[in-house]
Amino acid sequence: MKKSKVLLLYTGGTIGMIENPVESSLKPFNFDQITMEVPELNKLNCTIETIAFENPLDSSNMNFESWTQIGDEIFKNYDYFDGFVVLHGTDTMSYTASALSLMFQNLIKPIILTGSQLPLGQVRTDGKENLITAIEIASKKRNNLSIVKEVAIYFENQLFRGNRTTKVSSDHFDAFKSYNYPSLADIGVEINFNLNYLLKNKIKKIKYEKGFEPSINIVFFYPGIIIKNVVKSIRSNSSKVVVLMSYGSGNLPIENELEEFLNSSKKIFLNVSQCKAGKIEQGKYETGMQLKKAGVIGVRDMTLETVIVKSMMLIKKYPLDKDKFTKVLLTNIAGEISE
Ligand code: ASP
Repeated sequence: MKKSKVLLLYTGGTIGMIENPVESSLKPFNFDQITMEVPELNKLNCTIETIAFENPLDSSNMNFESWTQIGDEIFKNYDYFDGFVVLHGTDTMSYTASALSLMFQNLIKPIILTGSQLPLGQVRTDGKENLITAIEIASKKRNNLSIVKEVAIYFENQLFRGNRTTKVSSDHFDAFKSYNYPSLADIGVEINFNLNYLLKNKIKKIKYEKGFEPSINIVFFYPGIIIKNVVKSIRSNSSKVVVLMSYGSGNLPIENELEEFLNSSKKIFLNVSQCKAGKIEQGKYETGMQLKKAGVIGVRDMTLETVIVKSMMLIKKYPLDKDKFTKVLLTNIAGEISE
């Protein structure tokens, strides 16, 4: 079988840094010399080409323009490679993965994001293993077709659907979790793909869509929150979409002032739970039912990261059409929401 060709795109983050021996601060190293840092890459049964952002970014500095920059690079090279590995800071990796999963439709090649908690240049780095395995996964084929046909995050022996992930730890090596969807592969001595859980996209022309509007406002509720102030702050914010961070299965305190405001406002209100696992069921309790009656949209089991990114895309695409926005928000595009 022909050797797979993998494009490695370095965008920034801890993984690509080395320690400045004098100041012991971290700085990006020249990515063209990646094989000097990780000579094991020469032993992999695939060809690797690398591209690096001219100015590598801490992922906290990324925004929808960075997602577009990554997407454009992949789209431009889509026909020439069998798989893509994006090296990315861990802080906002889940957002970028969600964005890419919605930007590319009909993917039949893998886009694997990875990074690390310790830089490649450090002795105990988790970066080497993450990088090597991510490339292996991106190059894996069966019957001449890529096994993974979606955007995924590989981190510390697990492969997750990117748009189902959340960063949960700033110091453990297993920094990501996917609470509402099983892992796509378990990695030990072997790479065992969970074929039933992988997307099964048919061979169709790739569709690449971009365009985001960051018109999102998030309100985090806590016991004792002053509703009058909540209403005032939402009113004074120009954002078109408001995410209400509720409790449990989507419950918020019953107060007339909130109910009246929700009923009368022209904004789009989304109900996302502060719980990371489980789903929004607005009819389960009276405290959720009132939100449903007021037209608040329960996002079912999507992650907060995906809700934000998807809303940014849909509000740009359908700025004046709440029904269309709602319909597509609750439609499964890339495995981000359960049927
Ligand atoms: N602040 C870094 C980033 O997200 C952390 C990391 O790479 O793990 O770019």
